[in-house]
Amino acid sequence: MMNAAFAELGLDWHYLALPVPPARFAEAVRALPGSGYRAANVTIPHKLAALEIADELTDTARGIGAVNTLTFSEDGRIGGDNTDAGGLLDALGDPLPASALVLGAGGAARAAVWALREAGVTVSVWNRTADRAKALARELDVGAGRADAELLVNATSVGLHREDTLDGLPLIDARVVADLVYAAEPTPLARWAEERGARLVDGLEVLLRQGARSLTVWTGRDAPVEAMRRALVQAPSSTSAQA
Ligand code: NAP
Repeated sequence: MMNAAFAELGLDWHYLALPVPPARFAEAVRALPGSGYRAANVTIPHKLAALEIADELTDTARGIGAVNTLTFSEDGRIGGDNTDAGGLLDALGDPLPASALVLGAGGAARAAVWALREAGVTVSVWNRTADRAKALARELDVGAGRADAELLVNATSVGLHREDTLDGLPLIDARVVADLVYAAEPTPLARWAEERGARLVDGLEVLLRQGARSLTVWTGRDAPVEAMRRALVQAPSSTSAQA
């Protein structure tokens, strides 16, 4: 997706996957600028470590408490941003639903709750481990527990594995369903939403939109979203790695 975007923009940049063990994260990131890297996306389990290593943070990254986008400036400073939040809003489009129930209390839920709340949506957060939902709700000043809403966001990891079922999740009667999880086949929640006639925003669209925002942060250019979407849909490997 990113390499298709660079080609479309005529940039001689290359996007590579660098698996890094948590214990080597800081050392690896500090070595990147000297090795010709201009920027990086950061994914599970490094988003908190990326927050800590950044010299400058955007309000979004600070508010969410996690970084998925790093930029290396020429003077060696590291900038940290979070495009997961804006990516979800871009994927949902305008107008946003007035209310949302977010499932999950991990990093993805945190970004979703923060983004929706900042956009003026009334948010409640539910989690399998209820205490984690209550703590997140207190911290971000939103409701806790199951609540009826126009939008249902799955920010749990349910759907990541073929054998996953929706048992135990509070499946409310929402008219829009956003599933952050993406897989090679439609997720159980995507199938459920489509059977009910709800509008579905799938995890690949959210992945695409957060990537488009990261690209703009790095280059200052509008992201070629259609070229990126084509590359994403065509690349089988992209659907087996989770952001
Ligand atoms: P995480 O920090 O590990 O959190 C996982 C969450 O899922 C926790 O709230 C956990 O609840 C819940 N959970 C796990 N198994 C469950 C089950 N069987 N039933 C109910 N809840 C369950 O993960 P994360 O970073 O937030 O990511 C969550 C998902 O979003 C991942 O699949 C990730 O790939 C996806 N994601 C997608 C994008 C995108 O661009 N599309 C971006 C970010 C993340 P407990 O607290 O009870 O354990």
